[in-house]
Amino acid sequence: APRVGVLALQGDVREHARMLEGLGAQVTTVRRPAELAGVDALVIPGGESTVIDRLARIGGLREPLREVIAGGLPVLGTCAGLILLAQRLVDGVPGQGTFGGLDVTVRRNAFGAQVESFETGIAVPDLGTAPVRAVFIRAPLVEQLGSGARALVTLPDGRIVGAEQAAVTGLAFHPESTGERRFHERLLAQVARRQDAAA
Ligand code: GLN
Repeated sequence: APRVGVLALQGDVREHARMLEGLGAQVTTVRRPAELAGVDALVIPGGESTVIDRLARIGGLREPLREVIAGGLPVLGTCAGLILLAQRLVDGVPGQGTFGGLDVTVRRNAFGAQVESFETGIAVPDLGTAPVRAVFIRAPLVEQLGSGARALVTLPDGRIVGAEQAAVTGLAFHPESTGERRFHERLLAQVARRQDAAA
């Protein structure tokens, strides 16, 4: 079974772990650099990006994470996870850093306050015909796509809420809390493709 690390410093770690286990993956929670060894993919959950970034820095995880992501590890980040994958950040707190991986500019809390959280169905051509059920909770937005990244999920008004680059995917919303499995399936498919290429 593919070994998938879930960054477990803060946020909705368990929802991701449960979904990945349901898809047959072996889940490793990652809190220390040594726990990154041997993972075939990584999930960065939603939560609070400022907290996750600070804990990663304190725990010496920021550089190791930057390295594995730059090295081509398949990664899925949701909400705060998208923020942490962005190469450029708008409305971060002073000193807030990211792990990189996506050539995008992301704005934190672009949809307003917690009370303005919402759930919606979005058509995602890459995932087939059934719309994605997406929950937005103080969600970020991809404000600008760099030349290295492409839009994966776009709202009907044109705003980009999902982007990918090589095997790195960032989503502004939470697929894990609506039982939307296709992004996690895609992550596991990326692992399989990478292992085939290496064999
Ligand atoms: N607003 C949060 C942040 O800045 C993200 C919210 C979420 O992950 N649901 O990290």
